[in-house]
Amino acid sequence: MTKEQLLEMGYREYRGEHINVYFKKDLCTHSAVCVNGDRDLFNVCRKPWILPDACASVDKVKRIVDACPSKALLYIEKESVK
Ligand code: SF4
Repeated sequence: MTKEQLLEMGYREYRGEHINVYFKKDLCTHSAVCVNGDRDLFNVCRKPWILPDACASVDKVKRIVDACPSKALLYIEKESVK
């Protein structure tokens, strides 16, 4: 799925240097998998509550986002420039 499609579907974008995370509030089932996975990446007491660059690695961002049971969270990894 493209960023444009996600935004059209109502996802909000949270940009990081190497990966963007997308969140659609209406789909969230409050399972807390995200916040329990990494409280630097996901912190509901902070604005913005998702900071992709606060996570130790892009792989960890992907792992936690993939574990979201409702698909309220998705990501698009940016192509690395070599
Ligand atoms: S893991 Fe997904 S469903 Fe659970 S609280 Fe986070 S965004 Fe919501």
